[in-house]
Formats: sequence, structure tokens, C-alpha cells
Amino acid sequence: MKSTEFNTKLHVLHISTKDEIELFKAGPVEEKLITAEVCVPHLLFSSEDYKNLGSLIKCNPSIKSNSDKQALRRALKDQTIDYVATDHAPHVLSEKKNTYSTSPSGMPSVQHSLLAVLEMVHEGDLELTEVPRITSHSVAKRFDIKERGFIREGFWADLVLVDMNDTYEVKKEKIFYKCGWSPFESYTFNSRIIETIVNGERIYSQGKILSDTIGKKLEFTRG
Ligand SMILES: [Zn+2]
Repeated sequence: MKSTEFNTKLHVLHISTKDEIELFKAGPVEEKLITAEVCVPHLLFSSEDYKNLGSLIKCNPSIKSNSDKQALRRALKDQTIDYVATDHAPHVLSEKKNTYSTSPSGMPSVQHSLLAVLEMVHEGDLELTEVPRITSHSVAKRFDIKERGFIREGFWADLVLVDMNDTYEVKKEKIFYKCGWSPFESYTFNSRIIETIVNGERIYSQGKILSDTIGKKLEFTRG
């Protein structure tokens, strides 16, 4: 079947291997019918991390080899994979600590997703100027999200202030999830989020949540 046979769009979630990447074409998101996404854990962890983290990093599809991880990073850079998702799945720690076969799949990741993406900049796999494309621009374009995803007059101000020269250690007491744990605990990221602005309002500043009730329904421009 040719990808253009039905002239319809398809988005494929959770790419985790080098072999899958070969099914997609590199290029700008607006020129594609078939797009793809990769989740934060597959970009940061590899099978080498199972010995320390075990079933805490069990997810579906599973975390693969280091060469898969490197291929996923390259595919983001060359626009074969269009953007990053979190797959935030806040299972409680008591369940995650079950044996590998009975532990639920998935892990919490939304709080540290941008820091994780910026880690790829520090490791030389992405330019800082490419980060907005894989976290905002391509998503807004792919789903025709109205007035979001770009810093533009008339658009909603969804912004983040980041210090690329400071570090951030993930500690249990700084985790905002109800599940109370993160696979990145005791990981030190090489950047720090100073402030987060959503719909033009400051909701996070210097380690504190200021407001968490200002979310708005996304609107779309597609007909
Ligand atoms: Zn998922």
C-alpha cells in the first residue's frame, strides 16, 4: 500500500526502534501525510538502565538498546520523527515495584520532559534552536491548533524561561505528581526551568506552583 493511496493523515505514536524509523520519511511536518512521535523515556533511557531502574522504566513499547536511542535522537534532528511526547503515566510506586511481568507499563515524565529534551542539547544531539520545532511548532502544525505553538502577536502566551547554565537535581520532595516519584530521581539535569507561563499567566516560578486552575480547552482550525 502506498502511503498516499487514500490521501488521509496518519500519526504513529511511540516509535522506539531504529527499524521503525526507516518506515518514515524525513521532511517538514506540513508536507507529510504520515507523521511520527517519540516519547521522552525512549530518548533518555536505554536497556543499560534496567539494571538500576528495573520495572520502574517498564513501558509499552519497551525501552530498547543504546543504538536505538541514538537513532531516535538522530531521527528527531533530521525530521523523520516530528516531535516529542511525554506518555506521562503516573502509576503508583508500589505497583511499579512489582516483578517486571506484573508491573504496569508507563512512568510519570511530564514535569521533567523539557529538561530531558534540553539534555539532548547539552549532549550535542540537538541545537537549542531546534527545540521549539520538536516541542511546539510541529505539534501545532500537525493538529492545526489555533493560536498556539508559536511566539506571535495574537497567540496565547504559553512560554517557559530556562537557564541553560544552571543544574536541576530531581528530588522526591520537588515532585508535583500525586504518585510522588519519578524515574529521574537523583538525576541532575544540566538546565533549570525558572518560570512557566500558560495562557499568559505565570503558573510556576522558582520551584513553586502559583496556580494550576487556568487551563483552557485547545481549539483547532481544521475544517
Ligand atoms: Zn502511551
